[in-house]
Amino acid sequence: MIAGCILGGAAGAVAVVAGYQTMSPKGQWYGRSLVGLPGGSLKLALTFDDGPNDPHTLRLLEVLARHGVQASFFLIGRYVAQRPDIVRELAHLGHVVGNHTFSHPNLIFASARRTRMELEHCQQALADAVGRGSWLFRPPYGGRRPGTFGIARQLGLEPVMWSVTGGDWKEKGEDYITQKVYGQVRGGDVILLHDGGPEAFGADRSQTVAATDRLIARYKSQGYEFVTVEQMMLEREGRRAASLC
Ligand SMILES: [Zn+2]
Repeated sequence: MIAGCILGGAAGAVAVVAGYQTMSPKGQWYGRSLVGLPGGSLKLALTFDDGPNDPHTLRLLEVLARHGVQASFFLIGRYVAQRPDIVRELAHLGHVVGNHTFSHPNLIFASARRTRMELEHCQQALADAVGRGSWLFRPPYGGRRPGTFGIARQLGLEPVMWSVTGGDWKEKGEDYITQKVYGQVRGGDVILLHDGGPEAFGADRSQTVAATDRLIARYKSQGYEFVTVEQMMLEREGRRAASLC
């Protein structure tokens, strides 16, 4: 279809598609990223952005522990520097720690130099908190431009996007969040939720905490297993290697 647009001379349509690709979680033009496993997989990955946060990250850790589930957290570096104790707790409990930049800019508008600095500063904050940086990266707002993922990979960071969003930043209640997720899950999904907010430390994410409790209970009862994005990444690579044999 894209080739058809170009051959037809519909430059406007191509520009629209290119614009969509800069924010679309599933767009792969600007470099491959993990968005999930093939539909039908009985694995799901919960991911939480914009933490660490107090008290909601800690409440979330209690919910996850009660269900015996490990999740993946994409952390904002300046909050990591502010509350390294929460990050240490996350890592200690076996959750995956990811890089979500230092100050949460939209990288669509960031120069290569700024992008590199944002990622490096977050890596440093993580290293100060838990002794090591991450190898996973998620761009704020899902925004990236050509070259963004390349810079991340030069720093040893693999991009992770998502296939399902809970829309929890809208703060419309836990019913809204769970219904939104129920409507999108196809199996093998990476689910995007938030345990903090980019504007300021201390965002109220109690709705996300309550919704997470319900989501885990529901999908476990249907036979799904919750895994980290690291585990999904390894399974994806395994599948790719097998398909080459
Ligand atoms: Zn974010």
